[in-house]
Amino acid sequence: MANNTHMGVVGAGLTGCLLGIYLRKFQYKVTLFESREDPRKNQEGGRSINLVLTSRGIKALTGVSEALAERVMKITVPVFGRTLHQLSSSSSSTTYQPYGPTPQHCNFSVSRWELNTVLLTFAEEMGCEVHFNHPITHVDIETKTLFFYLQDPVSTKLYQQRYTVDHIFGTDGGGSRCRQSLLGYSEAQGKEVQNISQPLRYGYKELTMPKPPPEAKMDVFSLHIWPRGSHFLMALPNHDHSYTITLYLPEKGGDLSFEGLNSPEKVKKYFETYYPDAVELMPDFVKEYMENRTGFLGTIFVNPWTVSDKLALVGDAAHAFTPFFGQGCNCGFEDVSVFSEILEKYQEKGMKTVFDQYSLSRKSNGDAIGNMALDNFREMMTKTADEKFLLEKAIEIELSNRFPDLYVSRYVLVTHSLVGYDLCKQVGLIQEKILSELSRGKTSVAQVDFALAQKLIQEHLVPFWKKNNISSKDFNYSSKYYPTQRSKL
Ligand SMILES: Cc1cc2nc3c(=O)[nH]c(=O)nc-3n(C[C@H](O)[C@H](O)[C@H](O)COP(=O)(O)OP(=O)(O)OC[C@H]3O[C@@H](n4cnc5c(N)ncnc54)[C@H](O)[C@@H]3O)c2cc1C
Repeated sequence: MANNTHMGVVGAGLTGCLLGIYLRKFQYKVTLFESREDPRKNQEGGRSINLVLTSRGIKALTGVSEALAERVMKITVPVFGRTLHQLSSSSSSTTYQPYGPTPQHCNFSVSRWELNTVLLTFAEEMGCEVHFNHPITHVDIETKTLFFYLQDPVSTKLYQQRYTVDHIFGTDGGGSRCRQSLLGYSEAQGKEVQNISQPLRYGYKELTMPKPPPEAKMDVFSLHIWPRGSHFLMALPNHDHSYTITLYLPEKGGDLSFEGLNSPEKVKKYFETYYPDAVELMPDFVKEYMENRTGFLGTIFVNPWTVSDKLALVGDAAHAFTPFFGQGCNCGFEDVSVFSEILEKYQEKGMKTVFDQYSLSRKSNGDAIGNMALDNFREMMTKTADEKFLLEKAIEIELSNRFPDLYVSRYVLVTHSLVGYDLCKQVGLIQEKILSELSRGKTSVAQVDFALAQKLIQEHLVPFWKKNNISSKDFNYSSKYYPTQRSKL
């Protein structure tokens, strides 16, 4: 039955499109307002970063329909582990670390632009109306009115356009205008407001690597990393077997920063010095570096996420965080699927209850994954050469192998399960203590006392699983999209 309630979704990025699709399943009238032009018209073929889809993202897509999940999975490439490219005299010095013991422990690489175009098309097919070139300027929350300054295509004059809807969803990303309006409104209402924005002082830039020749031995079903301490390069495969490369560098601070690398000569020298095996395969890296924009990274913690039944923030608009756990989009997709479950359950009680329950359920999870992504960043920057840290990681693999029903790493829980991020974070803290105790005074896994390990797991981890109703079958989300065999080139 058609539902005349009008949902205004601001931002037709990944989260906004998926949310629009879910809302159409409830038969609401849905309008998406997007500041950019239609990305499907992008003549450059839509340059963009790549991201990895993991369990939570796949579950949210499947929750719409197999048709959508299949369309998306078709444009992904499974990656089964990380290939680390060391800097050494031999340019082919690499180490491969599988994500897990089975091929099911893979993630799925996808172009953000391509994913966005698939979701947009699906949203339109589901009946969402999409207004492109509609940058919102502000929201009148009281009257649920959205304000836009638009340009008349003939006279090029600016004019104001407004739309009044029944409920507003802010899915306008990390720089969200909806969030600004929501926080301002809440403050004016005398509510306690959290508004923390933590810039990381790191930036990123997208570059490309055309499909490498076979002799380059680039494993297409792998994430490639060139770790260089305070800066690194990462490559994720595309389905035509080319790679999208992301360079991470400090924003400022001398030669090894975006500020310092400011001429073609410096860029050429930097890449040839630190990434000699990669540059051989990247014919346009200097031009791309000089032309492509630099993006900046940071974390946002805000509260509240909702105002009554008027406005809810979803995706990066509520919880933008750094990409070092590969979870931003997955978290946004999980926001949407949880919102849909809550809507199903509380619809009868009205949208205020739905918004309240959504915020109650997701805020702590958004904070947890934002903090875990920062932990990962610090680990990458300071601990990857630390012997104690490496020993703890090796012990962790051994514990997962010896006690598969009782021990699962935080990484696997975050990327392969549906266990809440806040619980994953708590598990990580318990595991830190166990690993620290087991590694004390040891230099190799062979020296570890595994009877003590079992005792510690029984004492600290098992009660946590029990208290939170988590069993070993929750350690891995299973879906038909996970391959049973490692793909071959
Ligand atoms: C380098 C990098 C690597 C990443 N890797 C991963 C990964 O591996 N896995 C993962 O899950 N996530 C990853 N992410 C995070 C992921 O890209 C984001 O979490 C995701 O794009 C968020 O989707 P969103 O729709 O909430 O926000 P966005 O993608 O930012 O979309 C917001 C939309 O709103 C529109 N908009 C903005 N302002 C306005 C306005 N005023 N009016 C109207 N529309 C507006 C924008 O044009 C855009 O279309 C990565 C991010 C970066 C930067």
